[in-house]
Amino acid sequence: MKQREVRKKVVIVGGGISGLSSAYFLQQLNKFDITLIEAGEKFGGKIATINEAGFIVEKGPDLFLNHKQETKRLLKKMGYGHNIIKPKQTRLYLLLKGKLRVVPEEFLLMKPFSWNAIFNSSLFSLYGKLRILLEPYFPTKKGKADESAASFFKRRFGKSYVDNIVDPIFASLHTSQASKVSMLSKFYHFRKMESQYGSIQKALKHKIDTESDKADKSTFLSLKGGMHKLAEYIVYKLGYVNKKNNILVNDIETLGQQYTLKLSNGEHLTTDYVIFATPAYITSSIVNRLNHKAAKKLQSIPFASMAIVTLAIKKENFNHKLDGIGFAVPNGEGLQMTSCTWSSSKWEYRAPKDFVLIRCYYGRYKEDQIVEKTDEELTKLATKELKKIIDWDGEVYKNWVFKLKNSMPQYLVGHQRRVKQIEKSIKETPNILLTGASYYGVGLSDCIKQGQRVAKLLGSLTISKP
Ligand SMILES: Cc1cc2nc3c(=O)[nH]c(=O)nc-3n(C[C@H](O)[C@H](O)[C@H](O)COP(=O)(O)OP(=O)(O)OC[C@H]3O[C@@H](n4cnc5c(N)ncnc54)[C@H](O)[C@@H]3O)c2cc1C
Repeated sequence: MKQREVRKKVVIVGGGISGLSSAYFLQQLNKFDITLIEAGEKFGGKIATINEAGFIVEKGPDLFLNHKQETKRLLKKMGYGHNIIKPKQTRLYLLLKGKLRVVPEEFLLMKPFSWNAIFNSSLFSLYGKLRILLEPYFPTKKGKADESAASFFKRRFGKSYVDNIVDPIFASLHTSQASKVSMLSKFYHFRKMESQYGSIQKALKHKIDTESDKADKSTFLSLKGGMHKLAEYIVYKLGYVNKKNNILVNDIETLGQQYTLKLSNGEHLTTDYVIFATPAYITSSIVNRLNHKAAKKLQSIPFASMAIVTLAIKKENFNHKLDGIGFAVPNGEGLQMTSCTWSSSKWEYRAPKDFVLIRCYYGRYKEDQIVEKTDEELTKLATKELKKIIDWDGEVYKNWVFKLKNSMPQYLVGHQRRVKQIEKSIKETPNILLTGASYYGVGLSDCIKQGQRVAKLLGSLTISKP
């Protein structure tokens, strides 16, 4: 006899990339009534792009990594692969003793090091260069204990590699300190390379020799028109999902075997399953009355705040070639800026042809006071600091300031253990699932992968009844 599918209700809280991708993969299972609730006006969460006067300005992410496949795969699957763009150039600079120096691409650890790149680099002493080259001969770490990223890279490549590459890159690109970040949670693949090949260099060489996709070598990719297109494309494909925006979920309580969600518009929504795709501290506040233990554990994941100042400047005011994607700023350089992206050099069509578009990043873990500054103060700071580093004069033509409070989850050493504890305590209230940047990776592809995982998990939990 044909079985009748019983459609269970699922509510997804949070319409950032994690919530959107969860909804997308759940919809594909075709066995749930899905509602997606987003507090903001637009779906996308951290992903947001402003199109203004010919400028394309990113508020949050401006790229996705090529070597993590999920974003690329999803875009292709939805039929938007043709809108993926590669960067115009990939050179990254590092500010060292007030001067911009090129970071060879190899040093970002996507490619094996070449003798040339190491010996021609002005970033290391002779001893530092030899220490990097001798990496394959240093012993590997046994066991599965976590360690900080600084400890790992020091073991493999020596102290000057940590001081001159790892520390500044972490401070600027990850808003965190390499000495605090969990290697297992953030860079598990490097630990795996170490245990499999006995050396990162050997592992990378092996990867290059065996890689099939040799033509597609860009480290990162983006989208024509800006990253918000990713969110727009997914929303467009969510034909069978009930999408509610401008509504907050404030509270949750049990109702027999189901849950009732209390919404900011006064509505009470009954559901069988809930997926929280909100940052851990927000999920904590929503589940606090229902599952106080889980709420407390969710608070154990810290966040850093950021401010981003984007400046549009007339090209004629610049005496610099801007021949790269931008630069990272190490801690000891006496600047508050952590990094700077030359958006119009990095991507096509980000600014009208007579202008350059420059994105300055502020904010490190435990330096939240940066978001207390006014827009005017931040613009002044960015203008002053940029003038110190790059040769340009004149005025800023246009500016955009974004203050992103508690926006970057910090995966400190022991993060995996904390996530396991959170998962264990949330299980005490069954049929509630967690996903998002707070847990298994902050990058867009990590979030999409988690959305896929959570949909699969929910699919396997439910059974059809006769
Ligand atoms: C400045 C910045 C730059 C970045 N750059 C990159 C990059 O270039 N590449 C990359 O891969 N990653 C980048 N990241 C990381 C990546 O963008 C984020 O980790 C990812 O977008 C987070 O997605 P999410 O869906 O987990 O969370 P969010 O995007 O935070 O989504 C959560 C959603 O929940 C909603 N919400 C909150 N409270 C409630 C409530 N009570 N009820 C209902 N909804 C609620 C919010 O409005 C939000 O839309 C960057 C992050 C930042 C902050």
